[in-house]
Amino acid sequence: MGVCGKNPQVAALQDLLVYKLRELCQLALQTHKIGLKDEKLDLFISEALFATLTNVNFNPDAIVTYIKKTNEYQTQLCKQLNIQTTYPSLELSIDNLVMEGKKVGINASPVTEADLHSLKWLLTYGLKGVAAYAYHAYLLGKKDEAVFSFICQGLAAPLNPSLSVNDFIGLVFKCGEINIRAMELLDAGNTETYGHPTPTTVPLGVRQGKAILVSGHDLADLEEILKQSQDKGIYVYTHGEMLPTHAYPKLKAYSHFYGHYGTAWFNQQKEFAHFPGAIVMTTNCIQRPTDIYTNNLFTTGPVGYPGVTHLKNKDFSLVIKKALELPGFLADKEDKTVLVGFGRNAVLNVADKVIQNVKDGHIKHFILVGGCDGTKNSRSYYSDLVEKAPKNTVILTLACGKFRFFDKNLGTINGIPRLLDIGQCNDAYSAVKIAQALANAFNVDINDLPLSMVLSWYEQKAVAILLSLLSLGIKNIRIGPSLPAFITPNILNILVDKFNIMPIKTAEQDLNDIIK
Ligand code: SF4
Repeated sequence: MGVCGKNPQVAALQDLLVYKLRELCQLALQTHKIGLKDEKLDLFISEALFATLTNVNFNPDAIVTYIKKTNEYQTQLCKQLNIQTTYPSLELSIDNLVMEGKKVGINASPVTEADLHSLKWLLTYGLKGVAAYAYHAYLLGKKDEAVFSFICQGLAAPLNPSLSVNDFIGLVFKCGEINIRAMELLDAGNTETYGHPTPTTVPLGVRQGKAILVSGHDLADLEEILKQSQDKGIYVYTHGEMLPTHAYPKLKAYSHFYGHYGTAWFNQQKEFAHFPGAIVMTTNCIQRPTDIYTNNLFTTGPVGYPGVTHLKNKDFSLVIKKALELPGFLADKEDKTVLVGFGRNAVLNVADKVIQNVKDGHIKHFILVGGCDGTKNSRSYYSDLVEKAPKNTVILTLACGKFRFFDKNLGTINGIPRLLDIGQCNDAYSAVKIAQALANAFNVDINDLPLSMVLSWYEQKAVAILLSLLSLGIKNIRIGPSLPAFITPNILNILVDKFNIMPIKTAEQDLNDIIK
């Protein structure tokens, strides 16, 4: 069983899919050389790789469909290149595919060159994050050939035996750079389609009436659900990483888009079981559903779980039908509210005020606390850190790591909230832009700003985000509660020497070190 609860069969199928995608990318790179490009193929590679990211697709049938499609594309590209395929054709029974997958996964063969092996997988995990961003951006009309080309180059690289450790170090940092471009495209897609997020108060209570809960990260799916469910007596709530979507002007214009329900992905089984309406997982991170709510749950895009209805073509009529059948909330319930909407535009609009408060000594330090959350108890470090941070610090947060402290009232500094929610993990670009703008305003390097980054690590998009921060030369990043298992001591030493990456200690120790 993997870190996310995937069974060995699905894990082996995903390993095979990644391997077949590597082969497909080798061919695609050859077609690029003769000027043949295929946007559909680019999108397919991104979507299929996205489906192998932790907590995205647990459905063996869906993974087999991606493998078959990969095979079809291989045949098509071989024809275009006028070459005999050198790739063995697969016998497509699930058992056989699982057997093939076991031969090509991360632990498939004895590792003779541990550092090379570690870098190949660091690159692969980083690319999965890039593919997720590129896929989301594409759906909102934003794309860049350079991003798709690099996904191919990086995926194919481990099949090239002539590449050295140094070559892979270069590719890993390039992956970080390309990921910034992918995140920029997604940021443009989100903000040009839905407007720039503005500070918005979101209720954590509920309204009497039928209900739909939308989780994941896909704004286009959310918009479609809002459109299709309006004037039907249904309220739409967000879950998990959808919380920041309340701040987008074009989404919050829907009067039945009410509030937020629940916290991070790993609390789904508890939280979804009590939700009296239909639930849609638009992207990661899905958890094994319990019998209580499997029939109320729907998936879209690259997400899947056996036994859960998968929706296609943005048709949410089954979701609406289910919401109308279920009881919904029987009475209004008031609760706390939370403030969201501090994306780059909102923060930079008050940059003068923020800068003046820093100059006057009212704001001593910024601490970015964010990342992909997981289940380990030691992750209480993050809430401790935020709660114990001195009153003259501002906490910037993003991604689902925030649910450990998102409803805490940390107060304000001269009208500036001490807790600023930048958005989803998909909004990491906003955090980078805010840091760069502050560095420009103070005329210093980002590393000389009164800013510390404390990341919560989980094998998700956090890999790509970390590589992006490193590619920008950002140093002194704290990571916890544990580092990825596939990074060898030598590779870690490179990161420590070059970037002073450090593991988290205790909240008190780190705060002492951060705020000297
Ligand atoms: S922040 Fe990361 S772990 Fe959390 S829901 Fe998003 S992708 Fe999953």
